[in-house]
Amino acid sequence: MPPPPIRKGIAHRGFGTKDFAKIQNIFQTAKSFLSVKDSAKFFLKRRLIFRIFAYISVAFLCKIFMTKRIVYLALALVLIVISNNVRAIDFQKYFHDRTLRIDYLRTGSAKGNSISVSAFVAKSGGWAGSLVHTIDPFDYGAFRVVVKEDATGTELYTRTYSTLFQEYAATPTGADSSAMFQETVLVPFPKDKIKICFQQRDERQQFVTQEEVLFDPATTAVATRTAKNKAQKLHYSGESHKKLDVVIVADGYSKKEKGKIEKDFAAFVEGLFSCQPFKQHKNDVNVWGVATISDGSGVSNPKKGIKRNSAIGSSFNVLGIQRYLMTYEIFRLHDAIDDAPYEQIIIMSNTEEYGGGAIYNFYADVVVSSMSGFIVTHEFGHTFAGLADEYIDEDISYETLHSTQTEPLQPNITSLVDFDKKWKDLVAEGTPLPTPISAQNLNKIGAYEGGGYRKRGIYRPAIRCMMGTGGGFCAVCKRAINDMFKIYTE
Ligand SMILES: [Zn+2]
Ligand SMILES: [Zn+2]
Repeated sequence: MPPPPIRKGIAHRGFGTKDFAKIQNIFQTAKSFLSVKDSAKFFLKRRLIFRIFAYISVAFLCKIFMTKRIVYLALALVLIVISNNVRAIDFQKYFHDRTLRIDYLRTGSAKGNSISVSAFVAKSGGWAGSLVHTIDPFDYGAFRVVVKEDATGTELYTRTYSTLFQEYAATPTGADSSAMFQETVLVPFPKDKIKICFQQRDERQQFVTQEEVLFDPATTAVATRTAKNKAQKLHYSGESHKKLDVVIVADGYSKKEKGKIEKDFAAFVEGLFSCQPFKQHKNDVNVWGVATISDGSGVSNPKKGIKRNSAIGSSFNVLGIQRYLMTYEIFRLHDAIDDAPYEQIIIMSNTEEYGGGAIYNFYADVVVSSMSGFIVTHEFGHTFAGLADEYIDEDISYETLHSTQTEPLQPNITSLVDFDKKWKDLVAEGTPLPTPISAQNLNKIGAYEGGGYRKRGIYRPAIRCMMGTGGGFCAVCKRAINDMFKIYTE
């Protein structure tokens, strides 16, 4: 979700007054150094130079110590190791170029949960995902869906994702009161019998299967949906298998506001590509628009007494946080966008009130306001790259969301329990860990205390970042975004 709103343009409560006064001072004295972009370039360049240097050294050593035959043998071994690490499966052998949508309900609390499939849906159109990266190389989500060939048990498709449930389970209410949540996953449509395993993490963060469902394309009942609204191309770069397909779906627009939808779509597309590294990936992305029409104008805002039955069901004050804008109507959401090819979803909520929300590989919800550009990019960082919030907000009572005893799943926050797994390679030698917030460190990647809403025990990579209060993505977030693009575009 976006950081707490800025008060009168000075500080926001997120950092605490002392921290924020410090940061304000730093900004005043070092405005000219505020380019996170440059520091990212520096690190990327350094990585490349280091790699080239390493290759030359290895080649040189080989020349000195080995005969040609041994060198070829060593190269062959390296190639075997590399090819074994890329676990690509033959897509055409196992899947049609179509999408199987699985709707299910997750019921429970922090004490435990169970899931039950409610519908298999043959989504219209082809498979929008990669034909190569069917196995998820990342580990950012709280849950994982695993598709196995029934006959052999071979893993054919995996994806990790998060949902509103585990945020609910981290709140005081979710500690022991049970609630039911709609969730949906998309997998490629199988040619033969498959097992669909729904997995969640145990206390050591390892995935364990909680439900295994058999799907037989010859006999299992499969529904279809007819979307009321056709998808329109807002930005097209090419064939979906090698592009990231994003759908923007309008919510809370009345019949009279059709013209406004088009205008807002354009602003959202512009916002999405307004900052790096999304700007440089413009040709890797297709953006689709679905213009749903609601009964009235606006979305629900219960604290202000506004109740709306909008097309997608967006509402403020989700989990008791006023600016947290989300929908519980996941099946309705997927029904509405059935006509679009999509791998990522952004709901465009027709309200000027400050707010938004996003969950990794689930969806993002963003308000239409002067802040849209920032909020779209920030929320997309969550849903697309699994990034965490890099700000502090002690009003958020997610008591168990980011434990300080284990390493958080997100690539851009750390508890320093296993920092090697995170961005230690991007930290310049001699940088103290934790890193103090100071003028000299403005452009430095380090580990700054405060992040993932917590003031203590969780560290962020940079003083300023798009995942915090703004100022462009830090080098760590940029790397995570760039890495994520590969599984959509190869
Ligand atoms: Zn956020
Ligand atoms: Zn960052």
